[in-house]
Amino acid sequence: MLTHALSEKAAYFMQLEDQFGAHNYHPIPVVLERGEGVFLYDVDGKRYYDFLSGYSAVNQGHCHPRIIQTLVSQAQKLTLTSRAFYNNLLGEYEQFITSYFGYDKVLPMNTGVEAVETALKLARRWAYDVKGIANEQAKIIVCKDNFHGRTSTVISFSTDPSSFKGFGPYMPGFEAVAYNNIVAVEKAFQNKNVAAILIEPIQGEAGVVVPDEGYLKAVKSLCEEYNILFIADEIQTGLARTGKMLACDHEEVRPDILILGKALSGGTLPISAVLCDDEIMLTIKPGEHGSTYGGNPLACAVAITALQVIKDEKMVENAEAMGIVLREELAKLDSHFITSIRGKGLLNAIVIQHANQDAAWDLCLELKANGLLAKPTHGDKIRFAPPLTINKEQILECVDIIHRSLKILS
Ligand code: PLP
Repeated sequence: MLTHALSEKAAYFMQLEDQFGAHNYHPIPVVLERGEGVFLYDVDGKRYYDFLSGYSAVNQGHCHPRIIQTLVSQAQKLTLTSRAFYNNLLGEYEQFITSYFGYDKVLPMNTGVEAVETALKLARRWAYDVKGIANEQAKIIVCKDNFHGRTSTVISFSTDPSSFKGFGPYMPGFEAVAYNNIVAVEKAFQNKNVAAILIEPIQGEAGVVVPDEGYLKAVKSLCEEYNILFIADEIQTGLARTGKMLACDHEEVRPDILILGKALSGGTLPISAVLCDDEIMLTIKPGEHGSTYGGNPLACAVAITALQVIKDEKMVENAEAMGIVLREELAKLDSHFITSIRGKGLLNAIVIQHANQDAAWDLCLELKANGLLAKPTHGDKIRFAPPLTINKEQILECVDIIHRSLKILS
């Protein structure tokens, strides 16, 4: 495995994390201290293109000035009231986000996985109160190779042993079907107790797996036929990342329950949201679900600006256009180490094929040395997902860095 020299300063911060923090991550050896737009800077002042964007939380670019301004000015005024009381921002945020996405109501949460949990609870409650499924019998269909977060319930339906192994017993009531396989979905829908299907429109963590065109639309039409809810986890794919506001928009599918997170704050705070119409949302009654921080005034103010910035700066259009440039330029490299280049908008991945099983990791170390940060997922895949503010000149410079770095594999 390759190692690049680290400064004493960087080694110090890494050692601290290693000694005093849980070992639940395996980071690339770089210690960051500043971000601006598409760039990150390490503790020694070296500049990098960020090709991960905080797993798509930083779609708007690092420390976006308008988002930071809202964050600071609201933080000086009011940050948290709890939902025991009303505040002057929650209602305005709720009005803003529901009209932005076209739903009756929103339920605000914090992290992505909390929003997934919320969507699952809503689907189960809807199954009992509206669809008429017998109590405790509701079933939710998920897809193999999914990633929806790390809580006990959510890992219960993961098919990735590194997510679920050793954490049982698991929550019942889920069935995993093959992704991008409409026959498998229809078969699973034969069970009268199916309440919902939970889908990532593109499987991000699995390595940017893009389903065939028509798959999402076909699932949605089966949902309508069988009276089953279509839950879209757009935590990673939403908010302009794939060149549409939502990845489901590529197929003009309107999810019954929409889950958002990550870039809802532009990378400043954990803010997530579940959107749906009254028939589903109003099945949960006062006192039956919530979170101390969910819907706090600071989050509401930040989320409004974060969403506004996406539209004002035409990030949907830029993600679409720059994604095309990125994939075209990567294809021109014609590297026999890259077996696949895939993605939509600026959610992309390459798949590395090499006799050395650490090749993708080694390539990421070389990319780092050459000024670009990316990280492998599932061993051989590297996600290329820069902030959506990146321009063509920068994309070309990044492809040049990738080109030079690939030489390490020869
Ligand atoms: N769902 C998807 C599709 C994700 O990509 C992620 C995180 O990567 C999550 C859920 C979990 O979000 P969080 O880490 O904020 O809990």
